[in-house]
Amino acid sequence: MKELQERIRQEGLILSDTVLKVDSFLNHQVDTKLALAIGQEFKRIFQDKTITKVLTIEASGIQFAMAAGIALDVPFIYAKKKKAVTLAESVYSAPVHSFTRQETYQVSISQKYLGPEDKVLIVDDFLATGAALVGLVDIVRESGAELVGVGCVIEKSFQEGRGLLEAKGIEVHSLARIASMSPGQVHFIDELIPTT
Ligand code: 5GP
Repeated sequence: MKELQERIRQEGLILSDTVLKVDSFLNHQVDTKLALAIGQEFKRIFQDKTITKVLTIEASGIQFAMAAGIALDVPFIYAKKKKAVTLAESVYSAPVHSFTRQETYQVSISQKYLGPEDKVLIVDDFLATGAALVGLVDIVRESGAELVGVGCVIEKSFQEGRGLLEAKGIEVHSLARIASMSPGQVHFIDELIPTT
């Protein structure tokens, strides 16, 4: 997605060879028009698939899962990182190790909102080590729902996440794939995402 690549080049802060900060337009302050365009792009990419739910993880996947849900006209669910007292019913849960926070936490969703009848698109802001998405994949599998694919806004292709997901037979599409980066420089893997 060209517009996204341009914004990353203009506004992304490369804090190290592995950490990119995009909080002026993606995951702290959010450019709402861009977020909605991202949702439309996920719809275009997965247009030949039936999708009944979009699933993400709090907090920074929420705006993109909502945008995809709006585009696809289906609900979205976000996995919670802490079990709230209001989440008293049975849950699906999985452990996730956080790359940015360097800690392991349990993510969960209510069993009420996902089941064998569902066809799920998982969406997130970043694909890095893949730990967060593997946690969501485990939740989808536990629920008996069908996993249609994974859509990421930014993929750091030099990290192991894509390989981990593809090894599980999962279709992965990322809107901006970073081949390498260093302070002041970012290189993208340019590829056309097929429409069928
Ligand atoms: P993963 O589980 O794939 O390692 O990364 C999961 C989460 O870590 C992403 O959803 C994202 O919130 C955060 N993350 C990973 N790498 C980066 C990065 O370079 N920049 C930012 N801002 N967040 C990241």
